[in-house]
Amino acid sequence: MTSQRTRERLLGRLMEQGIKSMEVLDVMRSTPRHIFLEEALAHRAYEDVALPIGHNQTISQPYIVARMTEAIVTTGCMDRVLEIGTGCGYQTAILALLAKSVYTIERIKPLLDSARKNLKLLKLRNIEYKHDDGALGWAEKGPFDAIITTAAPQTVPRELLEQLADRGRLVIPIGGEGHQELRLITRTGSEYTEEVLDLVRFVPLLRGQVKH
Ligand code: SAH
Repeated sequence: MTSQRTRERLLGRLMEQGIKSMEVLDVMRSTPRHIFLEEALAHRAYEDVALPIGHNQTISQPYIVARMTEAIVTTGCMDRVLEIGTGCGYQTAILALLAKSVYTIERIKPLLDSARKNLKLLKLRNIEYKHDDGALGWAEKGPFDAIITTAAPQTVPRELLEQLADRGRLVIPIGGEGHQELRLITRTGSEYTEEVLDLVRFVPLLRGQVKH
């Protein structure tokens, strides 16, 4: 069920859907997704779908993870990358294999704790974790070469734009429940340019923290 063949089939799907970066494809191939899921769902880990991880949240669809990652990997520096919405840590793992340092923020404490455990299992050590409202970013650790947001706000949080380095990129779904626009925003000095990459469906970005 988590056989090499099933995993190769997923890689084929990512390529068919237009993922071209070999660097991203290699990391998607080498990262086990089943360890991020509870046992009852592990047999579905290599399907190209989002799946529940508890607390009303989901593990992102592999294609979307690859698409968002490709959008920042192919457009510039990857020294300092911020992720908003750690969830179970799957996207974090992909980023940690491609960036020098990853900073990740999650508002639901038990999810952050289990992500920490999963990523330790994968021996990924270039990650710093924060339990907080990620819409505020992480000013002390910035500016960031890239920011990925895996939950959707209605509008782009100003703090995230401010914490982008010169030539930094922000990949973020914008909109209400249902369908959102996945945007790639690039900063050049004090100018920001914007491109729509895809239509997507993420959980909403919620404000404040949850302790239990
Ligand atoms: N990156 C995950 C996707 C998790 S789903 C993956 O690779 O599968 C999105 C996550 O964003 C949820 O865990 C949710 O709790 C979190 N989230 C929502 N609003 C947030 C906020 N304001 N700050 C931090 N995390 C937030």
